[in-house]
Amino acid sequence: MNKTSIIHNIQSNEQMKMKNLRYEQEIIEFFSLFRENKAISIPLEAFMDFKKALKDCFGSGGVVILSEMGKGHGIYSTKRLLDEHPNRPSLLEVITSYKQKEGWGNMEFRMKPSEAEVIITKSFEAEYHERSKEPVCHFLRGYLEGVISQIVGKEIKVSEIRCKATGNETCVFKIQPP
Ligand SMILES: [Zn+2]
Repeated sequence: MNKTSIIHNIQSNEQMKMKNLRYEQEIIEFFSLFRENKAISIPLEAFMDFKKALKDCFGSGGVVILSEMGKGHGIYSTKRLLDEHPNRPSLLEVITSYKQKEGWGNMEFRMKPSEAEVIITKSFEAEYHERSKEPVCHFLRGYLEGVISQIVGKEIKVSEIRCKATGNETCVFKIQPP
């Protein structure tokens, strides 16, 4: 699938903005998980501690570990969800809304003639991160790679080109074929 096809595919996803029953079911399911002790919540400060520990132990390798963790989650969770939501464009909308409710940030897909981007407002990785010269949303970048690759059925790459932690208002991720 070339870049134009990928963008067209995601444009189709963008058209599925309406909330639907499946989205509502996902949200209900999420809170049910808490009630049934099948989910945990951690303070953002704790997640930042995880990131610091990985960086202290592995240096730049810690970034790779974080992004691979995110990518793996994106791949496996999307595969699980595809069993229940085989309509891939609709599934992307479900996932986006789902993660927003979980506090990961508000994800918005933006299509331009030559490229596709994901804008995340209030990224949980950047919102309380100390000021950085480089983008810091490594887990989310990997997660987007995993999810979108599964949705479009082909390996794609995602890079964070602007980040809240660097002083930008939002985090901007560029979607591109490998
Ligand atoms: Zn960011």
